[in-house]
Amino acid sequence: MAASTHTVTNQAPPLVGYDVFAADRVLVEAVDRHLDPELLDEAREELTVLGRTSGSAQVQEWGVLANENPPKLRTHDRYGNRTDEVEFHPAWHRLLGKGVSAGLTSAWSRPGGHLRRAAAFVIWTQVEAGNGCPLSMTHAAVPALRTDPALAAEWEPRLTSTVYDPGLRPAAEKAGVLFGMGMTEKQGGSDVRANTTEARPLAEDGTYELTGHKWFCSAPMSDGFLVLAQAPGGLTCFLVPRVLEDRTRNVFRIQRLKDKLGNRSNASSEVEFDGTWARRVGDEGRGVRTIIEMVAATRLDCVLGSASLMRQAVAQAVHHCTYRQAFGGKLIDKPLMRNVLADLALESEAATTLALRLAAAYDDGGEQERAFLRLAVPAAKYWVTKRCTPVAVEALECLGGNGYVEESGMPRLLRESPLNSIWEGAGNVQALDVLRALQREPGALDAYLREVGRARGADHRLDGAIKNLLAELADLDGIEGRARRLVERIATVLQGSLLVRYAPPEVADAFCASRLGGDWGSAFGTLPHSLDLATVVERARPVS
Ligand SMILES: Cc1cc2nc3c(=O)[nH]c(=O)nc-3n(C[C@H](O)[C@H](O)[C@H](O)COP(=O)(O)OP(=O)(O)OC[C@H]3O[C@@H](n4cnc5c(N)ncnc54)[C@H](O)[C@@H]3O)c2cc1C
Repeated sequence: MAASTHTVTNQAPPLVGYDVFAADRVLVEAVDRHLDPELLDEAREELTVLGRTSGSAQVQEWGVLANENPPKLRTHDRYGNRTDEVEFHPAWHRLLGKGVSAGLTSAWSRPGGHLRRAAAFVIWTQVEAGNGCPLSMTHAAVPALRTDPALAAEWEPRLTSTVYDPGLRPAAEKAGVLFGMGMTEKQGGSDVRANTTEARPLAEDGTYELTGHKWFCSAPMSDGFLVLAQAPGGLTCFLVPRVLEDRTRNVFRIQRLKDKLGNRSNASSEVEFDGTWARRVGDEGRGVRTIIEMVAATRLDCVLGSASLMRQAVAQAVHHCTYRQAFGGKLIDKPLMRNVLADLALESEAATTLALRLAAAYDDGGEQERAFLRLAVPAAKYWVTKRCTPVAVEALECLGGNGYVEESGMPRLLRESPLNSIWEGAGNVQALDVLRALQREPGALDAYLREVGRARGADHRLDGAIKNLLAELADLDGIEGRARRLVERIATVLQGSLLVRYAPPEVADAFCASRLGGDWGSAFGTLPHSLDLATVVERARPVS
């Protein structure tokens, strides 16, 4: 449009009004690959609807509004009574409502549910990552609750419901509920054995009262929480409802909301329990064993969430460079920019491919696949989430100065990008968990080696990397201090093997040459120039 002083030219149009699913070839192929053919038509249809919704101007606007208007804590009403409520912008409720109705909490109740949900999660959280937190915790609470069949029978239908029913009312009166978790305390997060919150039995029926605190408790407006506390028999998992059956509010004092780097739409709080009513889940002393079921599922969501952020960052970068011209040509055609974009696209494709493979293993549920997940989930949580921030930074730079400006959406992606590596167990904790799986569960390594072995013989760099990995695994001396290097190798070998089996040869070739063959620099954009990078970039272009 002509202004009085100049005409605006050479600015890329916004990436809006597109199908986020169809535009992501890697995701579409992963769904086609892993889903039972009988479910495919229905799943594609659902994901297309969600993809179009996610790419719409309206939903993108909700994402902006939910972050520009973060939640507010209302501890008291005007008369001084405690209320402990969190007030959200309407955009947050719309986002969360869409997420729930799209089945993001319903994976456990339908065939192929994990893969379908995983694809939906990758699509949906590209618009706004904050609402992924309550969606994830609600989804993940199901397997932990299943350790108590009576509790599961009562709560599971509410958790897996596709109805978003906000507001503090007894769960039995609601068409759908949300769940959170409370593990981290001030004196210890990774080391939950340091929890000091106490649980005093009220009766023989598994009811207790809790006294203590939680230093991080996200989504405090949820209807229930799985909480760890010290019972007489040791650290135990409890279900804490926000509202009791008699309609009175449980004691759940929200002290503050955290002022966070990113993830600003989502309320993360500090809470205190004081005679708070709770119901035991699983046996006393088995708290970690019980809640680990929830943690395993949220860790997979961290992988999916990082794959989603990387995909959005790369889509924005490739889109921008498709339109922006400099020095007589489009940026996407400049050899050096093409190298940067291809390198970013590889990281994104490897993340999505791995994440969806893990989701498919959840659906399978067999012994082999469970053993594979035991090693592959913490390794992927370590590596994929670690790659997210470098990808977000470099993708931002592809937009030049525009990328540094809030309106581009890139700063929000960047602020969000470190989070998946921290919560649900930070990087070192994941690496140590991989060691634990290696040392205590030999079936996990066997299942992993069987998986990567399927690609043996297809690429000499992959074969070499597998050989090196086996040599490293044979020497576990001083392994704790070098766990990160080992876990990085475990993850990149797995990614390489999946790309060799499933991705176009240009993608697999570039990944193996750089990540496994070592022909690569320390920054993105350092791929060997002999590779077919134009094909890699074109594959990542968000066209639907
Ligand atoms: C936005 C946000 C929301 C959150 N929401 C929730 C929630 O809803 N519920 C909840 O329970 N928690 C929540 N958390 C807490 C989160 O899970 C913890 O912050 C995380 O697990 C790390 O624990 P910590 O903060 O106590 O750090 P620490 O345990 O003190 O760890 C600090 C560092 O030390 C490393 N480390 C720990 N042990 C070892 C070791 N043995 N060897 C080497 N390095 C080690 C860790 O990797 C980490 O880098 C949230 C956190 C954030 C940032």
